[in-house]
Amino acid sequence: MPSIYLDHAATTPMVESALIAMTHQAQVLGNPSSLHTHGRATRKTLEDAREALAKEAGCLPSEVIFTASGTEANNIALKGLYWAGQNSGKNIIVISSIEHHAILDPAHWLKTHEQAEVIQLPVSDAGVIDLDFLDNLVKTRGDEIAVISVMHANNETGVIQPIGEVVRIAGQIPVHTDAVQSFKKVSLSFSSLGVTAMSLSAHKIGGPLGIGALILKRTVEIPSLLHGGGQEREIRSGTLNAPGIIGFTAAATSSYYNADAVAALRDRFISSLQALIPEAIINGLSSERLPGIVNVTFPGTQSDTLLLLMDGEHISCSTGSACSAGVHEASHVLLAMGHSEITAQSSLRFSFGAASTPSECDFVVSVLPDVITRGRAANLT
Ligand code: PLP
Repeated sequence: MPSIYLDHAATTPMVESALIAMTHQAQVLGNPSSLHTHGRATRKTLEDAREALAKEAGCLPSEVIFTASGTEANNIALKGLYWAGQNSGKNIIVISSIEHHAILDPAHWLKTHEQAEVIQLPVSDAGVIDLDFLDNLVKTRGDEIAVISVMHANNETGVIQPIGEVVRIAGQIPVHTDAVQSFKKVSLSFSSLGVTAMSLSAHKIGGPLGIGALILKRTVEIPSLLHGGGQEREIRSGTLNAPGIIGFTAAATSSYYNADAVAALRDRFISSLQALIPEAIINGLSSERLPGIVNVTFPGTQSDTLLLLMDGEHISCSTGSACSAGVHEASHVLLAMGHSEITAQSSLRFSFGAASTPSECDFVVSVLPDVITRGRAANLT
């Protein structure tokens, strides 16, 4: 029985070149902040890596701030830009209603602890933010808005958001985008987008866990969350994770990911699925989406049961949404797209990676009708 992994949006295997580069760097001695030869050598390696990553992200090397994760990059950006705005009397944070918890939760924290007013942008049934709502908000309360944060692509549905339009509407208001799922999957350039800040994470692109980056405009100053040695423009103190950074850059500069091939697999999956299970709803189907993510609602089922039944078939996929104390919550993303609590809890996310194959795709589709039948039966008992 083959074991199939279709949860690449959660994390994806390391690219071989990244693994080799990282393992090599782990054996190199020298703190990049030290002034001696060992330290300077590590510093040089890291600055070369920063330059290479900047090229991939479409920004200046000095705009790259290495962090320990996408979550940390999001926290630094949202809290930092909020506090910077608060200093000039702005206390509104605008986020979309479909953000990852790494934006939703810091926004909620700023509301409960730092007097922020949080306004969520609604999305259409197709999973795209309401630009008219944003436009009205900026026209009526623009001078109170400290920061706007809208993700580049959603991690549950893969739906890509109109960030260029958000930036245009925002005018002078700082815009942050969480591009953790988009980087290296679709064309993405910090400078072309015109955002103030952008979050990236290595383990979503074939790099190691525990390393991410915040891209922050050179001219923008924000308060720090971590104080210490003053690294990374004094925004993110802490000895740089040299092996992680080298692995991240190696993954970012490799050509391991063939977006067209992954999208072809996704489309093959969708058309076979629709032929076998016509009542299945593909969420966000009419929108522009990432190549690798398919989110499907199977009416009459329960996501957790489906996940376990799929696991019983040696297939790893995802419910897409969070668990709280072991209880699966209805996805806030699907609820925002107009699903009911019941249908939002009847969905699975399948995410394809660079090494996923047509035969894996066909096998997964072939077991689904039986899994859905058993899932529905379990739901009735
Ligand atoms: N933002 C999005 C859209 C994500 O999908 C994820 C990870 O699932 C994160 C942020 C968090 O990234 P990390 O796992 O590097 O903390």
